[in-house]
Amino acid sequence: MVCPKCQSLRDQVIDSRLIEEGKVIRRRRECLGCHHRFTTYEELHPQKLRVSKKDGRVEDFDPSLIHAALEKACEKRPVSHEQLDRLVKEISRSLHELDEREVTSRQIGETIMNKLREEDEVAYVRYASVYRQFNVATDFVREVQNLHPVAS
Ligand SMILES: [Zn+2]
Repeated sequence: MVCPKCQSLRDQVIDSRLIEEGKVIRRRRECLGCHHRFTTYEELHPQKLRVSKKDGRVEDFDPSLIHAALEKACEKRPVSHEQLDRLVKEISRSLHELDEREVTSRQIGETIMNKLREEDEVAYVRYASVYRQFNVATDFVREVQNLHPVAS
């Protein structure tokens, strides 16, 4: 960070703390040239996430589509609205954490599956069977066995 006083680029951080509920990091810095102390604030600038589809189209990431998919998978399952909302948030967050401007619909599908697997097995298998378009019964069975590994 350029020193506001002497324009030196060399400084050291002497203190950093989280503020605004962890959304911002405040750092006290000291210029190694002139020992001037100054403060910087670091915060996340969420980038608009784009989704590239199988057919080559690219669309804005839309969390409501994830919500709809989850709702369908969790139909008649003991998964509350609050849980659904939380899942949507967690999935969105993991996708943003990939730190790419563009994710594939495949990455989204895999992320949804991973989260559902932790949340509700039936909903997971339901989603996975649609997502992977199982047409061979053994695939489906293998998937179920993965959930309940047979003790050997
Ligand atoms: Zn300086």
